[in-house]
Amino acid sequence: MLKFISFGSGSSGNSYLLMSDNTILMLDSGVGIRSMKRYFQEYGLSFTKINAILVTHDHADHVKSVGAISNDFKIPVYATEAVHKGIQKNYCVRKKINAANKRVFLPGDDTIEIGDFKITPFDVPHDSCGNVGYTIEYHDVVFGLMTDIGHITDTIRDNIRKCNYLVMEANHDESMLQNGPYPQYLKDRIAGGNGHLSNVKCAQTICECYMKGLKHIWLCHLSEENNHPELLRKTIEKEFQENGLRMGGDIEVDILRRRQPTGIFNLL
Ligand SMILES: [Zn+2]
Ligand SMILES: [Zn+2]
Repeated sequence: MLKFISFGSGSSGNSYLLMSDNTILMLDSGVGIRSMKRYFQEYGLSFTKINAILVTHDHADHVKSVGAISNDFKIPVYATEAVHKGIQKNYCVRKKINAANKRVFLPGDDTIEIGDFKITPFDVPHDSCGNVGYTIEYHDVVFGLMTDIGHITDTIRDNIRKCNYLVMEANHDESMLQNGPYPQYLKDRIAGGNGHLSNVKCAQTICECYMKGLKHIWLCHLSEENNHPELLRKTIEKEFQENGLRMGGDIEVDILRRRQPTGIFNLL
């Protein structure tokens, strides 16, 4: 059994669960604690069953409730040293992670075994204290998470090629961003090499790295002001068509909602 849930995705909060029969991983913890408690109740889930929280980076939308969940339920939190320091300094994280629950890894060097899962973190460029993506092996399948992607690197490409299931950022439509209401410095930050990934770049990268084993993609972290799910869907469809790929045929594609949980996806 392998199940996946998204509780929210985007600048208002990101948090996902990956669950096997014996192990539950929380990926990022940026949805508010009150909403999380409500969602857990609705889904019949228990925080005490979470084996570990894996953090991508220290921006509030990924770590807002990490201290509260980790401390209250004694859950270890895995992140790089730099990201742990960033969380410590982040005033949006009101409860800090107890020292006893901090776990540190080196992206690119360490693999982490937690219950049924073998996890490999890798660097992802972004303007936080650090940012990682994860590939997570379960038997012979690989689940990947990469978000808040400033630009695509060879490391990211290599990791996409390993994935059967992939959560990947499609943040903005380039012309909506440039013609939208944001001040110029913010437009430059988002479009810059340490900002966020556009719909077109996301679509191109998926096509470039497509391998037959890739079954299902969840597009995440859509901007509220500079993106629209239908526009993203059309951009992906067009790029897929140009590359001879069928959406729903070769790959299932889902677009994650910003503020609503997805329901449970049964992957295996
Ligand atoms: Zn973010
Ligand atoms: Zn970020």
